[in-house]
Amino acid sequence: MMRQYELVERVLNYDPKADEALLNRAYVYAMKAHGNQKRASGDPYFSHPLEVAAILTDLKLDDATIATALLHDVIEDTASTRAEIDQLFGPEIGSLVDGLTKIRRLDLVSKKAEQAENFRKLLIAISSDIRVLLVKLADRLHNMRTLEHVKPEARRRASEETFEIYAPLAGRMGMQALREELEDLAFRGLHPEIHKTVVDRLAQLRDRNKGLVDEIKRGLKEKLSESSVQADVLGREKKPHSIWRKMENRQISLEQLSDIYGFRVIVDNISDCYRVLGIIHTHWRAVPGRFKDYISTPKQNGYQSLHTTIVGPRHQRVELQIRTSEMNRIAEYGVAAHALYKDNIQVAASVNGAAKNGPADLTKDGPYAWLRHLVGSLLDGDNPEEFLEHTKLELFQDQVFCFTPKGRLIALPRGATPIDFAYAVHTDVGNGCVGANINGRHMPLTTELRNGDEVQILTSVSQTPPAAWERIAVTGKARSAIRRAARDALRRQYAELGRRLLVSAFAKIGHDHTDDKLRKSLSRLSQKTVDEVHAAVGRSELSVADVVRAVVPDAVLAQPSTKPRPRNRHERPGADEGWFNLSKVMSLKFRWPGSGDAAGRESKVGQGVPIRGMRNDVPVRFEDAGAVPGDRIVGVLMPGEGIRIFQIHSPRLKDFEHEDWIDVTWDIDPENPQRFPARILVTALNEPGTLAQIAQVIGEEDGNIDHLQMVSRTSDFTDMQVEVEVWDLEHLNRIIHGLQSRPVLSRVERLFE
Ligand code: MN
Repeated sequence: MMRQYELVERVLNYDPKADEALLNRAYVYAMKAHGNQKRASGDPYFSHPLEVAAILTDLKLDDATIATALLHDVIEDTASTRAEIDQLFGPEIGSLVDGLTKIRRLDLVSKKAEQAENFRKLLIAISSDIRVLLVKLADRLHNMRTLEHVKPEARRRASEETFEIYAPLAGRMGMQALREELEDLAFRGLHPEIHKTVVDRLAQLRDRNKGLVDEIKRGLKEKLSESSVQADVLGREKKPHSIWRKMENRQISLEQLSDIYGFRVIVDNISDCYRVLGIIHTHWRAVPGRFKDYISTPKQNGYQSLHTTIVGPRHQRVELQIRTSEMNRIAEYGVAAHALYKDNIQVAASVNGAAKNGPADLTKDGPYAWLRHLVGSLLDGDNPEEFLEHTKLELFQDQVFCFTPKGRLIALPRGATPIDFAYAVHTDVGNGCVGANINGRHMPLTTELRNGDEVQILTSVSQTPPAAWERIAVTGKARSAIRRAARDALRRQYAELGRRLLVSAFAKIGHDHTDDKLRKSLSRLSQKTVDEVHAAVGRSELSVADVVRAVVPDAVLAQPSTKPRPRNRHERPGADEGWFNLSKVMSLKFRWPGSGDAAGRESKVGQGVPIRGMRNDVPVRFEDAGAVPGDRIVGVLMPGEGIRIFQIHSPRLKDFEHEDWIDVTWDIDPENPQRFPARILVTALNEPGTLAQIAQVIGEEDGNIDHLQMVSRTSDFTDMQVEVEVWDLEHLNRIIHGLQSRPVLSRVERLFE
């Protein structure tokens, strides 16, 4: 195990200004916190955070990152708390360690390949500081290096995760060396036999090619020094995994040198890169189609290099990368290559191709903000325009990430509700949604979702989404689906209405109304389908008499009971406003003979119905524990009764079919305000004078107590239900807050039933 002073020395070697005392404190604290804990290998647990810290010193990261690495498992695995870390190491390290704790909790979620991309975004979203991700990658690397000690099932899962999530993440962050090692370890974890086969074959080839690699290196060096170019030539054997992938992709055997070895020429500056290219292409034949210039056009993750393949000394194909030492550092370490150089903005700006954005923007939010921006851009899209767009949108700040019960990740915009979640899962799930459990608890569909929520959508096949949902949903997908469903539902209502009108009219002249008969008259009515005829009749665009005459030309029509005038659809007011049409259909429904109707009954509220979207001839009633102006409300069509108004959180709402929901809003006349009843539950200490205090607060706030009832009583507390009349929601909240401020009242909350 590395000694304390060794670690500190490694950091001081590349960063003489590093805080030595901080590193020492973190070392001692983590070692004590993990105490006698052991790893699966039997090693002391502390060896793990220490190795993670060591990996990060290879990346030359700052002292806070190294301290975070030492502390990264203490909150999750020991008695340490965030508050303690904050206090001992400051809030910066506290929040870094906290980020790692959060990610570890997320590790428990099962992940499928399709959502790996979303999961990477989630990692970024909860890592407000890029150093959290760097520690996480080092943590994963060390766990993968010591994978042989864990059980086969855990090994397989960790390897899959590494393949799908962590290796690509390292790649997008430009950390190629890390990516290759992670991939190779995961490859070995998943397919140990294949891995061994490739390793054995490599050993044979290494033997056979003995001397060849050196010969090529020497040849290259010679030609370059003849032209007096200063260059290092490195030959490296590729990892078993990347060799295996090439074999799979191209269905080739392992004979080609270029598939095993890569050569790298490192020079001082960009013009030397092109000079080297020229010299090499002059002396050896280039393989057509293999030249790529990533210097003039860098990859999105900042990678720069010239690539070419030549036919080498023994007629072997030789793959070459030509780059400057700075480019090489960035290619190996990616984001981490910049991490210690807080002022080196130029690199970031040129790397992400967003020079237009200007360095000032990138540094605005602290020394690491530009790194965060950079990584954000790496995770999404391939072109600079897209990068700029997403930077503007602050992509990840605006999102919440939730899970289905099976662990599928659903990314939604902030402010999204279970309704949005349901539509994001599938349009059918959205359309059938009748309720939601969030983290196992039944919650209103209006609840704003938070990061990490597990959402279970309850569905019913007979459900139609109410138009009112359109205002609750925030995603375009949900909204347009709700609109479409509402339109379809409306159309079905009209069609049903039209059909019933026709059945009744045909009955009067002694005919049956059948779809078949109607179908034969479609062309005469200039309609395409029977359903359209029904809907047109329902909308009064087509008169019943015209349809009857079209089907039975010689019919003698008695006085028609309904006499709809054909109207131009453009003349109808509010034609596209759901509520208008719904209420119109509804009022017709009420007058429908023999349907247990409510015709003739007067509205209890009387003349000024304080609800928009209602006609005054429809009876409107408030649910008892009702709604007050300012509340979000839903109207429900009660057969034989009229419309009842519910507060949107009312638990009773779930008793009604959503197709009976009607979108309504308040329409209060400020000149003529009314009071509305609301219900409050108060838990009071059993002390003399408690009741008087309740009455006093409500009286002072200008509320009327309508009714007060003891609900239950223990030796110390009494639950009381207070019915109070208020002007609006603000007024009600004032009363509730007033009550909450009284020490004798331990709980005050609004009741919705
Ligand atoms: Mn760890």
